[in-house]
Amino acid sequence: MPLMKSWVESANTETTPFPLNNLPYGVFSRQEEEEGRCGVAIGDQILDLTGLEETHNLGLFDIPLFDVPFWNDFMELGPEAWTILRNWLIGALGKNSPLQVTLKPYLVSQSSVRMHMPFAVSEYTDFYAGRHHATNVGTMFRGADNALPPNWLHIPIGYNGRASSVVISGTPVRRPWGQLKPPSADRPIFAPCKRFDLELEIGAIIGQPSDGPITVAEADEMIFGYVLLNDWSARDIQAWEYQPLGPFQAKATATTISPWIVTRAALEPFRVSTPPREVPLLPYLQEPGPMLYDIDLEITLQPKGKAATTISRTNMKELYYSSAQQLAHHTTSGCPMNVGDLLGTGTISGPTKESRGSLLELSWGGKEPITLESGEKRAFLEDGDTLTLHGNAQGHGYRIGFGECRGEILPALDDPYERS
Ligand code: MN
Repeated sequence: MPLMKSWVESANTETTPFPLNNLPYGVFSRQEEEEGRCGVAIGDQILDLTGLEETHNLGLFDIPLFDVPFWNDFMELGPEAWTILRNWLIGALGKNSPLQVTLKPYLVSQSSVRMHMPFAVSEYTDFYAGRHHATNVGTMFRGADNALPPNWLHIPIGYNGRASSVVISGTPVRRPWGQLKPPSADRPIFAPCKRFDLELEIGAIIGQPSDGPITVAEADEMIFGYVLLNDWSARDIQAWEYQPLGPFQAKATATTISPWIVTRAALEPFRVSTPPREVPLLPYLQEPGPMLYDIDLEITLQPKGKAATTISRTNMKELYYSSAQQLAHHTTSGCPMNVGDLLGTGTISGPTKESRGSLLELSWGGKEPITLESGEKRAFLEDGDTLTLHGNAQGHGYRIGFGECRGEILPALDDPYERS
């Protein structure tokens, strides 16, 4: 599929993240506004759907959908409605659209707005579906012979995370305090995290509910779209607390997502199969078709006041399990899923050192700090560091971008239990 042309000129370049082919959904406000508006990105502009719906009868849906600052109500309408809106937008923003004069007053420059959470997160689950990541972490913690846990090739491992701390790109992240046990100490201490880390992931947004076990094919249809996701991780808290129930406070400080929901429809040309199976999966987990996406991913780290360094490059296709497989597995117990549920894929590391998706792996547990362009070394994140995830699916003459997933590390507060 080539670049589709729009009357919004900035959408017609090879390098814009938001050509007519993309049309991702977000929530934004102009500087003076508090409440967010629903919008769709096109080139360097946003089409203000909330404003448009207030003043024009678009003849699309019987009820107002964009009078709320989130996309959940629209997602709830289901895949037919998703197709109706996307097709309407492709026509309305397309090169020779008769609606150009009507829509032009509702374009807002992206550089003039503040982005908000694009949907209300119902619940958040995080998986561990990157084989290279699981192998690296397993090698560090248990040795190369037992790197992959015995269940890993059979089951998408996950844990139930916190929806309450999912935040939008640009939100600063405060270094947490927690219970840590330095290897040399007999007893744990309560102290600021010293091994604060990122995890490069993609988040799948569930747009339809389920009540009972569903197939992988049904799961794929329930996914509304995808965002970049950084699962901030306190490695020292995690190492002490995770035995035997898994991550708890180590992952609860914050999870950052990129502001634009890139729809499944926009990513359709980029579908790829999961890697070959080493052992056959149980039938309920088998994929009926390609359900991963060829999305180039990048991590940059910028110390305060210094240049940014790209510290890793990888691709979503390195995952062993797709989001659809994870979602199907999530429902096997009968667990209902809701509109607005968010599923993190797990850290997406590639096979090489330069393609690892966390500092834990890049610095090999802190033993081999990486060198930044400024000459500084990093084993884990330091206060003032800004960490940004980038993602692009590269088409022929166009790309599907996600927008940035960014956060700056703020220093830990004084002891939160020392109250004067
Ligand atoms: Mn994670």
